[in-house]
Amino acid sequence: MYMPECNGTELAKVIRHNDRYVSVPIIYLSAEDDLDKQLDAMSEGGDDFLTKPIKPRHLIATVRNRAARARNLKARMVRDSLTGLYNHTHTLQLLDDACYRARREDQPLAFAMLDIDHFKKVNDTYGHPMGDRVIKSLALFLKQRLRKTDHIGRYGGEEFAVVLPDTDEQSALKVLEEIRQRFAEINYPAQPQDLSCTFSCGIAMLQPGLDGNALSKRADEALYKAKHGGRNRVELYGEA
Ligand code: GH3
Ligand code: MG
Ligand code: MG
Repeated sequence: MYMPECNGTELAKVIRHNDRYVSVPIIYLSAEDDLDKQLDAMSEGGDDFLTKPIKPRHLIATVRNRAARARNLKARMVRDSLTGLYNHTHTLQLLDDACYRARREDQPLAFAMLDIDHFKKVNDTYGHPMGDRVIKSLALFLKQRLRKTDHIGRYGGEEFAVVLPDTDEQSALKVLEEIRQRFAEINYPAQPQDLSCTFSCGIAMLQPGLDGNALSKRADEALYKAKHGGRNRVELYGEA
């Protein structure tokens, strides 16, 4: 609460200012025993207030429990419930982090966006639950076929995004082209007839001067090109 340079409430404000740290628990530990001051401090985004003197066991147990609960909640917050993939917001954060790392380590980075073709027709013809099954199966397919170090997100309804660290243009094209072909071969048993689906994909490579935002715009443009080129294809940004 009372520290030189920056006090506890100031630090709490700084931490709470950044969306990335919303789930980080803040526990005050202070000799301050004025309840009003304690409550004021709590209103700056604090989760608990412990007063000194405190038994080490008490402090350790409080911190441990808060941390465990925060980790558990965070793991749910960043995932999409239908597929278990990362959600839109977290995927973009992972993309930003990957951009920084790629630049620092001077490694290539690819970002791909996928969108299932004519998906509305799948829902209209076979019903929403069948549509959900296709979405889940593409999610599983991506998990099985991409590397552990790749980040896979559900970007929107039937849209997916993949962050591929340490991956050059040719490798990214190869792996997504392979996934595209294999996915198109899947036959879903259904009435009145079996169903198969395709997706379109746009890929953009990290270039000097680009940030995650600009990179995702480029991947989106490449995806648009794939859609307009006839769907069921992979396009690389910037290629004629
Ligand atoms: P395009 O080839 O241009 O991508 O055509 P499309 O029909 O796939 O695109 P459009 O954006 O018109 O339609 C997307 C559809 O996806 C509309 C929406 O109802 C459906 N959708 C979005 N989220 C879900 C979901 O979670 N489950 C199911 N079953 N359908 C979804
Ligand atoms: Mg779409
Ligand atoms: Mg679509």
